[in-house]
Amino acid sequence: MSRGDFSRQSVRRQLSGEGLRPKKSLGQNFLTDETVLSDIVEAAALTPETCVLEIGPGMGVLTQALAKRAGQVVAVEIDQTILPVLEKNLQGFDHVSVMNQDILKVDLGELFRTHFGEKPVTVVANLPYYITTPIIMKLLEANVPITSIVVMIQREVAQRLSANAGSKDFGAVTLAVQYHAEVSPVRDVSPECFEPMPKVWSSVIRLVPRQKPPVDLLDEKHFFRLVKSAFAQRRKTFINSVSHELTPPVTKEQLKEILLTMNLNENVRGEALDIQQFAQISNILIGEK
Ligand code: SAM
Repeated sequence: MSRGDFSRQSVRRQLSGEGLRPKKSLGQNFLTDETVLSDIVEAAALTPETCVLEIGPGMGVLTQALAKRAGQVVAVEIDQTILPVLEKNLQGFDHVSVMNQDILKVDLGELFRTHFGEKPVTVVANLPYYITTPIIMKLLEANVPITSIVVMIQREVAQRLSANAGSKDFGAVTLAVQYHAEVSPVRDVSPECFEPMPKVWSSVIRLVPRQKPPVDLLDEKHFFRLVKSAFAQRRKTFINSVSHELTPPVTKEQLKEILLTMNLNENVRGEALDIQQFAQISNILIGEK
């Protein structure tokens, strides 16, 4: 892949040149579509001052595009065998550094301090799909200065992360992500845009971490336990699921009374409750302790 050539043939040629094949176990589906690439870069709103963290650079298609616009790029790649290809494709980009590490094991606080100092960082990635949610949650919970996160993920997961209360896609992960960030869709991406082609459609989404949570909580840990318990048994009503799953335990009568004071039906399901209602229920339960 010379600079800018990321056709399907070029991806294949370069990998086989190193005796490599795409590793399914690492979620290696390399981007081959120029329009998708420029839409991702556009959504990241890069300037020559921007510091970028890229997760999973692979052969460097996206890394090159980011490096052309940003002031600094740090790319974390787990696959040691792909590094010769990556390094070849990044020749001449002196403001790019590659770290051969597992992003889930990286100390993000230390990485940010070492590479970016106090500067805010934009995260951009075509994520490995087998660990999409753990990576997004790690970024959101790390307490590091992230301006925005632009990621390509499975379309099904994107729908879950951006769902509204009442939709079938709304769940515990929706609430966890939306508690930390505002989520907006960028575009859908068909399997033909990758080599090899994944089985599912993908979507690019943008997450902007909130300065302040959208709800006031008396006990954040209790709120998340409540959310988890409400979705633990999806086909059950909120009362049945929570009364079986929540710690410390609550009775059905307690929950029924709370729902009634909130003008909610006692047979309501977890997916019908929005983040404010979950917060209110959690705060009432904490207040009753
Ligand atoms: N950015 C490239 C592109 O768009 O063509 C590759 C994207 S591919 C979907 C995902 C990349 O993430 C692969 O290069 C894979 O080796 C890497 N990867 C997988 N698991 C990882 C992990 N735990 N930490 C860092 N990189 C990982």
